[in-house]
Amino acid sequence: MNIEQHIETLRKELRHHNYNYYVLDNATITDYEFDTKLKQLQALEQAHPEFYDATSPTLRVGGSITKNFETEIHLNSMYSLDNSYSKEDLYEWEKRVQKMLGATAIEYTCELKYDGASINLSYKAGKLIKAVTRGDGFKGDNVTNNIKTIHSIPLQLQKPFLDTFEIRGEIILPLDGFNKMNEQRINDGEDPYKNPRNTASGSLKLQDSAEVSKRPLDCLLYQVVAARIPFKTHYEALQQASLAGFKIPKTITIAKNLEQVFQFIDIWNQKRHQLPYETDGVVVKVNSIIQQEELGFTSKAPRWAIAYKFKAAQVATVLHKITYQVGRTGAITPVANLEAVQLAGTTVKRASLHNADQIALLDIREQDTVFVEKGGEIIPKVVGVDLTKRPSNSQKTTYISQCPDCQTALVRKEGDAKHYCPNFNGCPTQIIAKIQHFISRKAMDIDGLGAETVALFYNEGLIANYADLYDLKAAQIIPLERMAEKSAENIVKGIEASKQMPFEKVLFAVGIRFVGETVAKKLARHFKTMNALMQASFETLVAVDEIGDRIAQSIVDFSNDLVSIHLIERLKNHGVQLEVSAASLIGKTNKLQGQIFVVSGVFSKMSRPELKKSIEDNGGKVSSSISKKTSYIVAGKNMGPSKLEKAKALEIPLISEDDYLALLSS
Ligand code: AMP
Ligand code: ZN
Repeated sequence: MNIEQHIETLRKELRHHNYNYYVLDNATITDYEFDTKLKQLQALEQAHPEFYDATSPTLRVGGSITKNFETEIHLNSMYSLDNSYSKEDLYEWEKRVQKMLGATAIEYTCELKYDGASINLSYKAGKLIKAVTRGDGFKGDNVTNNIKTIHSIPLQLQKPFLDTFEIRGEIILPLDGFNKMNEQRINDGEDPYKNPRNTASGSLKLQDSAEVSKRPLDCLLYQVVAARIPFKTHYEALQQASLAGFKIPKTITIAKNLEQVFQFIDIWNQKRHQLPYETDGVVVKVNSIIQQEELGFTSKAPRWAIAYKFKAAQVATVLHKITYQVGRTGAITPVANLEAVQLAGTTVKRASLHNADQIALLDIREQDTVFVEKGGEIIPKVVGVDLTKRPSNSQKTTYISQCPDCQTALVRKEGDAKHYCPNFNGCPTQIIAKIQHFISRKAMDIDGLGAETVALFYNEGLIANYADLYDLKAAQIIPLERMAEKSAENIVKGIEASKQMPFEKVLFAVGIRFVGETVAKKLARHFKTMNALMQASFETLVAVDEIGDRIAQSIVDFSNDLVSIHLIERLKNHGVQLEVSAASLIGKTNKLQGQIFVVSGVFSKMSRPELKKSIEDNGGKVSSSISKKTSYIVAGKNMGPSKLEKAKALEIPLISEDDYLALLSS
């Protein structure tokens, strides 16, 4: 078999496994085997760019950056759907349809209304050509590179279908994946995403497709659009599309009349809570394609389809107590502690009360019977009070005026919905949450140290802020309850190692309000040093791309705060990275393509994580063990003796970090 054939065979095989796994939900190969084949293909494609194919399975991992999404005019407009909320509404719709068609018996299809972001996929000769968002219905954004990372969307069809066609569907984030993403965010001290729909649609517009590929997005399809559709019915078109490799939910059902439509609605109104994704209703469509064409569209929506919206799941329960949480940045969140109740398939004990205004507006009081709703958002919310059940001794809620933890008087800035505890540097809950954020995975990623241990250290008086971490000694930790010598040493080692974390992580870790991970990256790239950032004026800050008034003001406040200045000073003295390192400035190239590096020892010009990142940014691979395939060992101080021996035995060249930098700049 020649190389080209080999590449094609691998692509075909991987496509097929991909289809089995992501569309049919039926794996036919282990993850390990899949990865091995994918790596094989990647290597072959890298060595033979002449056999490039825009539909190769290797493109699923993403990597392309789109700064501005191109606007594309839809060949066929993407309409909205008319809504209905009752059986009467549906009867009226049927009457209009019957009248226009001059027919009485009409066959329908019932589909769930998938709650995500609409997408229009264009195919030609079996290949995905482009993917465009709905936009305003006439034109949308070309998000093809991001869409390619969604495994259930065929880049190449499994079986011949129409030659040129569009297929429309909904990009969704299944609940399971959404919850996992949020767990991670909460761990990292970031605000959880509100709901799967917004997160799905936000994902489509991320600039970095590698980021998109990490999100467990899926695509459910519901409509084939073509100049001429060679099928009699909508149902048949979708069945054929399914055979060609598209993910069409099996829930689609034919209904011979409206009675059967109502049955479908009633069943799914109950069962929808067991689905792996969210649905907010049912879409009823006239099944016959000829009839669809006859009915056509209004300026806004097809006449042959209508959405039936489910009512949001709601229950009544007693609100026992309103409590108040203090967040890392001092924001106060009121929480309703409820009599446990079943809602949409889960037990609910707590619900969000948003803020003081919301409580006042609805006049929510303790001991009230309240209505709790699970709408598009994951956290249930209190939406009203059953006044007929209000106890006679009921008392109006007075919102707290002092921090529930440190008793400092709360403040509320104009335009802010929330109250804040302004005792940023003295409020224990805030301090602990800040240190927990500092050590979290996406920030300083301190191995061996967890959120509970941080709270323990604080309560035992070992630390009062994140800079104190760097003064900790194992001997102070060992006497604490349930602390073994080994784990104490690991904590100290982990803290020491965090001094090598790149500046952008440190900037995120220090917890400036509104400076999340992405903003921190941007600021680090722009200002290069903490010093320059802290010297920057409000005007300089807002002049930076994507930095708005709110972020700029928050940075200015931080930079003028004596406690923050002092903390940063201490981090600097401890050797934490407060500047962008030389290596990370080198940027991305393909210079090291095909070369495998092993990194060993301690370096002076850059940290180990930076060196590894630089190798990968420049197309090289980093491996943890030395083998015949290793191209170079970048050796720092104190390289391990066993590694040294192995390197000698296999005659792998050892290079210094200077040699490495020279290699890059050559
Ligand atoms: P709306 O945004 O409320 O006007 O509803 C219209 C949108 O519902 C369409 O743009 C589709 O993206 C979406 N939708 C979800 N599921 C379906 C389905 N099964 N059939 C048609 N449209 C659907
Ligand atoms: Zn406080």
